[in-house]
Amino acid sequence: ESISVQDLANRMSERGADVIRTLMKMGQLVTINHTLDADTAELVVSEMGHTPKRVAEGDIEVGLGADQDAPEALQSRPPVVTIMGHVDHGKTSLLDALRATDVAAHEAGGITQHIGAYQVNLPSGQKITFLDTPGHEAFTAMRARGAKVTDIVVLVVAADDGIMPQTIEAIAHAKAAHVPMIVAINKIDKPGADASRVRQALLQHEVQVEEFGGDVQSVEVSALKKTNLDKLEEAILLQAELLDLKANPERAAEGTIVEAKLDPGRGSVATVLVQRGTLHTGDVFVAGAVWGRVRRLVDDRNNSVEVAGPAFPVEVLGLNGTPEAGDEFHVVDTESRAREIAEYRARRDRQAQLAKAAGGRGTLEEMLAGIRAGTAKELPVVIKADVQGSVEAIAASLAKQSTDKVSVRVLYSGVGGVNESDVTLARASKALIIGFNVRANPQAREMSRRDKVEMRYYSIIYNVVDDVRALMTGLLEPTY
Ligand code: GDP
Repeated sequence: ESISVQDLANRMSERGADVIRTLMKMGQLVTINHTLDADTAELVVSEMGHTPKRVAEGDIEVGLGADQDAPEALQSRPPVVTIMGHVDHGKTSLLDALRATDVAAHEAGGITQHIGAYQVNLPSGQKITFLDTPGHEAFTAMRARGAKVTDIVVLVVAADDGIMPQTIEAIAHAKAAHVPMIVAINKIDKPGADASRVRQALLQHEVQVEEFGGDVQSVEVSALKKTNLDKLEEAILLQAELLDLKANPERAAEGTIVEAKLDPGRGSVATVLVQRGTLHTGDVFVAGAVWGRVRRLVDDRNNSVEVAGPAFPVEVLGLNGTPEAGDEFHVVDTESRAREIAEYRARRDRQAQLAKAAGGRGTLEEMLAGIRAGTAKELPVVIKADVQGSVEAIAASLAKQSTDKVSVRVLYSGVGGVNESDVTLARASKALIIGFNVRANPQAREMSRRDKVEMRYYSIIYNVVDDVRALMTGLLEPTY
């Protein structure tokens, strides 16, 4: 009898890194694929506050993608797209304009409703799913909860305004998440529009569009005049083809909650983006620490539907509570099983909250544990400094600290004080924030304390390098 570290983590709904850390405390240095004997597994389970017997009978084999689909069961699925960009560059307008390109958009009674995501049916029969909460806050919040929903980011840049601070942030977020980008150069109808200047300026942010020999597609559009929306959709479909997006529709549904609310008339309503399998009315499911039986499925046109397959966003009615955006969604066999998992997770969340309140471990520490255990290969950092010269000097010095085992990865760097967006990015990526001759604003300080994001201030580059090296080798513990 044996079980891999990954499987054990899945069964307990714990992170692999946490299991590895527990094993480290017990004097065992292992990797995620390491196999444990039953006795060791039982010890780990007790050590992590679970009852081994419970796991054996409960057999919680959840975690998105925890089990594999046979290659022949996989079918192409539509891409899921998030639109990001600077405020007023036209994200909302573009989402509305794209939505109106649906072949059924002009049908009588084509009433749409906001459910957090919508799907566009193109004349070719292909489909694209858009998450319709624009901006990187929602994107990052989901990622911080471990959800990977977005396949492609469309970066909107207004051609009359060019690259702005939130454009740069959006680029950093997409890159940190390893999600490919397509640039939509918007407002080309405006007199001052200069698309080539935008393409040129993107180079400075390491976004190389095709015109400059890179592999990032760019499309000139006008959300207002509805110009080139079909070209943008073609670009998305081309990128999707390169990504070879596939899912098995013939299995119990799994997905992610993109939005959830308490509706006065309908009770708790959650929008689920199905990522594998097909969801049916009557299915029993768990969503985070909430469970239920699907009473009704409603699509983004307010139609009741019987089923929802991969990349299809639907509102689910019949929950016994309100889950959170980013929570995983699973269909399970029985109500008792659903209740068991939901109760287990509620208990786990409470414990995690208590641990956090008691000054428990933070996220950077998880990353460092992963590095020490060999499961993580990068130490992500966010650098903020008073002048560009310092930013570059620090980034260059840190790059030299990379070894063949661990590299330092600069997620984002810029001039100015540490702000909320820096903290959000660092939290989602378990990164260290380095402030060089700058401080955090009060909101960012409060956020970093609450979310246990490690932030360090420096005024001597040598000290930055020293600390980062010490963190990487485990000589220095995060402090918060
Ligand atoms: P968001 O903040 O990025 O969501 O931007 P909005 O979609 O709210 O657009 C900001 C402003 O730009 C609004 O006044 C829009 O009407 C305008 N706008 C958006 N797209 C275009 C466009 O293609 N051309 C022109 N001329 N104006 C646009």
